Amino acid sequence: TLRPLIAANWKMHGGLSWTSKPSDFEAIYPSSERRHLDVLICPPATLLASMNDGVFLGGQDCHAAVSGAHTGDVSAEMLKDAGATYVIVGHSERRAGGDTDEDVHAKAEAAKRAGLIPIICVGETESQRDAGQAEHVVSEQIKASVPDIANYVIAYEPVWAIGTGKTATPDDVDEMHNAIRAQVGPDVQLLYGGSVKPANAESLLALKNVNGALIGGAGLEMESLAAIARAA
Ligand code: 13P
Repeated sequence: TLRPLIAANWKMHGGLSWTSKPSDFEAIYPSSERRHLDVLICPPATLLASMNDGVFLGGQDCHAAVSGAHTGDVSAEMLKDAGATYVIVGHSERRAGGDTDEDVHAKAEAAKRAGLIPIICVGETESQRDAGQAEHVVSEQIKASVPDIANYVIAYEPVWAIGTGKTATPDDVDEMHNAIRAQVGPDVQLLYGGSVKPANAESLLALKNVNGALIGGAGLEMESLAAIARAA
């Protein structure tokens, strides 16, 4: 069985004097008690280098190039240099900002080049699900976004479940993750994301092909992140 990965995406939240710290996570749920799973925090890039506290760290996006005239962007190599092990690519909030499958593919390759593990996000919109296209959309996104690399993670995040409090039902998630598993094979960790919280974590993480979670809002508080991790 694949090792669970519990990942918090802090999005554009947090600062140096913020109260939420990975070191608090360690106090709440010490690494000696969670040897069976990996915990990852993806803070804003400005905070990466200041965090080194017993959880894995990741970036939330990267540019495909190593360096260059790309004002405002951060490369995978820079994230690695600042302490990251993972990087999220293709989050729906980046795709909504213009990232295409081709961009996501290039970013995932950049992650590999830099020695980072890409967490490649996919997910359908509400209207695509209503039209019965959810599995097709996700399968096409995977085909076009995932490069030929050995080590990557897929996060299934239905767009309509992100930050809405609407969670996909365990049956929906089970069906989608089984389809993704059939497409990508046995070795890829599959995370579910979209309104994961302590109250629903257990039923989602119990599903056969759910190997972890990508958590937004509930991952900002170390108590709730720990409660979700304890369900894995
Ligand atoms: P929420 O958990 O806030 O719905 O966000 C999910 C997400 O987008 C994680 O990447």
